[in-house]
Amino acid sequence: MSLITEELYRQMGIRRSVVTFGESVCEELKERFDAIDAIAEYNQLKVIHAMQKNRVSDACFQFASGYGYDDLGRDTLEKVYADIFHTEDALVRPQITCGTHALSLALAANLRPGDELLSPAGKPYDTLEEVIGIRPSKGSLAEYGITYSQVDLLENGSFDYEAIRRAINEKTRLVTIQRSKGYQTRPSFSVKQIGELIAFVKEIKPEVIVMVDNCYGEFVETIEPSDVGADMVVGSLIKNPGGGLAPIGGYIAGRKDLIENCSYRLTSPGLGKEVGASLGIMQSFYQGLFLAPTVTASALKGAIFAANIYERLSFPVIPDGTEDRHDIIQAVTFGKPEGVIAFCRGIQAAAPVDSYVTPEPWAMPGYDSDVIMAAGAFVQGSSIELSADGPIKPPYAVYFQGGLTWPHAKLGILMSLEYLVREEIVSLS
Ligand SMILES: *Cc1c(COP(=O)(O)O)cnc(C)c1O
Repeated sequence: MSLITEELYRQMGIRRSVVTFGESVCEELKERFDAIDAIAEYNQLKVIHAMQKNRVSDACFQFASGYGYDDLGRDTLEKVYADIFHTEDALVRPQITCGTHALSLALAANLRPGDELLSPAGKPYDTLEEVIGIRPSKGSLAEYGITYSQVDLLENGSFDYEAIRRAINEKTRLVTIQRSKGYQTRPSFSVKQIGELIAFVKEIKPEVIVMVDNCYGEFVETIEPSDVGADMVVGSLIKNPGGGLAPIGGYIAGRKDLIENCSYRLTSPGLGKEVGASLGIMQSFYQGLFLAPTVTASALKGAIFAANIYERLSFPVIPDGTEDRHDIIQAVTFGKPEGVIAFCRGIQAAAPVDSYVTPEPWAMPGYDSDVIMAAGAFVQGSSIELSADGPIKPPYAVYFQGGLTWPHAKLGILMSLEYLVREEIVSLS
């Protein structure tokens, strides 16, 4: 590291021992970073190829208002997404407000009263508990007579195939698989593992619909769950595929009939995909998608750096410092609330926006415990930007993700360590 860079770290409040420790960890990661860059290269080509094939032009960035009939930018972007995910169709809209909304939409649109939803890979993401009605909630699928069944993972984190076989019955209509660990300490699944699970489920019941919650997984590998048999992949544009530029939105890519159902549920029966003006937001969707492969790579480097830093300091980390990556989330278990809080405050202090504020734990809607969140983001709540979330409950793990650039992710992790050292939770001597 050059002297001027080191000096600037010092001016920004990071002590020499933290910077030196960080450099020693960085030295060992060169090969892994090269492998990430190679995946980003492939995915960058995939995105550009899809944009060229669909003749993306300046006209796609123009403004449509009102009903939004024949919105060229919107309709072309949906074709680009369908090509990237190798699906028949896609719904990519600013009217899909977030990832939970996209997932809720995909489920509600394709399930009918009397159907059963199966999660064969354990508990889904916290906010889906209310969507499904695992925690009673107004408007849940349960209120509409859709039942839910779940098969937990085996102790070693693998699929309980025998129990899954028993859980599939004549009512089972849709199977939901979450690629990323979310707020759990299980491993995330590789696309290959997801493909094996899909093949198993479809062998038992070929007509079952498989949906994959793809949040945080896009562009981490060269293939996506839709390449291994998923009928729908669903995600948020303020995570990976928005590339940090999309200010809102969600996507669903998949089989034509399923996407059609989603479109009728999103707007109205009879209207479907035809309406929904893009209101001038399209350039950010395209440009964000263009940047998404390298942004995801930066976030991955940050996650791997954090894993190696905290593993060396003897904190449990998931994934560990050497494992392959299937999403951009890094969990670090501090075992006590003070560790979670200091880590998040360090991430906040390294942000380009709102670096001067001090995050506090609070009762966030949709979560069943207090959560502390650090995010000094250009887009509120964007978690492809450097951010950290820590539910204040055992095992007191922090979930860290994002970083639009690798140097920023590195700064954030060094700052988190600086805060842990200051609080005497970590000693570097
Ligand atoms: C973020 C996330 C969601 C929900 O997305 P929001 O945009 O926060 O509503 C669902 N599932 C997983 C795995 C996620 O990471």
